[in-house]
Amino acid sequence: MKPLIVITGASSGFGAEMAKMFNAQNHALLLIARRVDKIKALPLDFTNVRVASADVTDRVALKAAIDQAVAEFGPVDLLVNNAGVMLLGNVTLQDPAQWQQMLNVNVMGVLNGMQIVLPDMIVRESGTIINISSLAGKKTFVNHAAYVASKFGVHGLSETIREEVSGHNVRVAMVAPGAAETELLGHTTDTQAIKDYDGWKQTMGGVTLDPKHVAEAVNFIYQMPQSVNVREIDIAATRQD
Ligand code: NDP
Repeated sequence: MKPLIVITGASSGFGAEMAKMFNAQNHALLLIARRVDKIKALPLDFTNVRVASADVTDRVALKAAIDQAVAEFGPVDLLVNNAGVMLLGNVTLQDPAQWQQMLNVNVMGVLNGMQIVLPDMIVRESGTIINISSLAGKKTFVNHAAYVASKFGVHGLSETIREEVSGHNVRVAMVAPGAAETELLGHTTDTQAIKDYDGWKQTMGGVTLDPKHVAEAVNFIYQMPQSVNVREIDIAATRQD
């Protein structure tokens, strides 16, 4: 069995692909999401897989889940902060509760995960954190104001913390994907924003990123020697602007 990997947001999309990939590599896994039934339905060998129902905004629940897996499998070698929400909307019309939700999950959730695993990684002088940001963390998109704010936040905090821990041989890296077909858009309630997004996808011939390739980008960063940090991978469908 290979060292422990923790993946948040493992119940669908990119997180589910990463779970399958690292399970096939025989890593001990802690898979976290709120809908554990969806994780349990994934085609995995569950021998060394633990599943925890935790909201990444609940620091206490997240830490309890990680501590329990560490007690069983040993230290966290890789944390993938992947859980995220995208609620598109025109800023003049959108319910501020949706902005708050994106900032809570996409920014606070990432900080929570990092604060939980970093002290031990620093002591051990080993470990990797990969934050799943977005191309919306580097450029703007209409109807994405709060989402863009959250993902620019992920870029800023990731680079800041990378500088803070690099001297301890701990890696902090990011994968910034372009559009992919997952459950992500399904939570948006603004029908015009959904129409606009679908129209934009047609500009790339409707061909978006396969979530498997995002998992492979995570793997590429992780498989480098601990002395090498691929700080960021931007990955998108070739036809995306
Ligand atoms: P999905 O909606 O398919 O997956 C999101 C995952 O996050 C689910 O497993 C969901 O699980 C989990 N999640 C959401 N809120 C919480 C929470 N509060 N606590 C714990 N888990 C939570 O989307 P993707 O796979 O596309 O998204 C994964 C990441 O990739 C996100 O950070 C997203 O912003 C980013 N991304 C996605 C792109 C895309 O086009 N799909 C492009 C660029 C970046 P559950 O609901 O069971 O808790």
